[in-house]
Amino acid sequence: MSQKLSQPVLRFAPSPNGRLHLGHAYSALYSWNAARQLGGIALLRIEDIDLERSKPEFVAAIFQDLHWLGFSWPEPVMLQSERMDIYADAGNHLRDQGLLYPCFCSRTELAASSEGNDPDGAPLYPGTCRHMQRGEQIERLERGDPVQFRLDVEKAMDRVGMLTFSVVGPLITDRPQIRHAWPERWGDVVLQRKGMPTGYHLSVVVDDAEQGITHVTRGRDMEAATDIHALLQMLLGLPSPIYNFHKLILNDDGKKLAKTRNSEGLADLRAKGWTPEDVRRAVGL
Ligand code: GLU
Repeated sequence: MSQKLSQPVLRFAPSPNGRLHLGHAYSALYSWNAARQLGGIALLRIEDIDLERSKPEFVAAIFQDLHWLGFSWPEPVMLQSERMDIYADAGNHLRDQGLLYPCFCSRTELAASSEGNDPDGAPLYPGTCRHMQRGEQIERLERGDPVQFRLDVEKAMDRVGMLTFSVVGPLITDRPQIRHAWPERWGDVVLQRKGMPTGYHLSVVVDDAEQGITHVTRGRDMEAATDIHALLQMLLGLPSPIYNFHKLILNDDGKKLAKTRNSEGLADLRAKGWTPEDVRRAVGL
């Protein structure tokens, strides 16, 4: 599925755990516009690793909404749920380098942490399981205790030394700037969630590389997480795309639109008589 090196390749990568809203429409329009400005293409990727929340009907609705907005994309569409073996290989590669460790902490234990917060406001992991003896790790793994695997971020940073990535903007055609990454502010992030060979960060870097993505356009809410992605790209020997962070579409209370806050879906707007032009106008593109 990799593209020719010379051709810019962008992507829109929604998670099918609800209906698309105006925030997604903006992000999709932004990626397709940027691809056009660069003379490249935009791919669609379905980020459905969350097997409980992702639903086939939401995948079908994504296709329908995007077609309605006037988009087309090369087939086949990458579905992350079909790529668990590939993520497991990437995870094993990091484990072989001694960079992942099993964490058996419960949600309640994590919530009680007083180490400060990560850029998303979640409590920083205090490192409870980081230095667990090998014997105890094996015993608990064999017993089948619920486990997730975390990246030892300090150890990883010692391996890579100085870490940077390229950012472009506000225009996609601007000259890229080098930015220093600071993944330590996330603490030891979870790379493999309970009962899964992966999590968001691991899948996204593996797939951006597999699809030959040259420019990642994403909302500003994902800007800080890009530090982790730059680190994983170095550790896994993957190319690092150029990043561009776009504005978020906010609701009347100034909050980011979200499926969980019952933001009106594109399908609802369509049913009310909105046209794709109305959507473009509403998001300012
Ligand atoms: N799948 C993510 C979402 O729907 C976005 C992925 C990304 O830009 O890396 O929010």
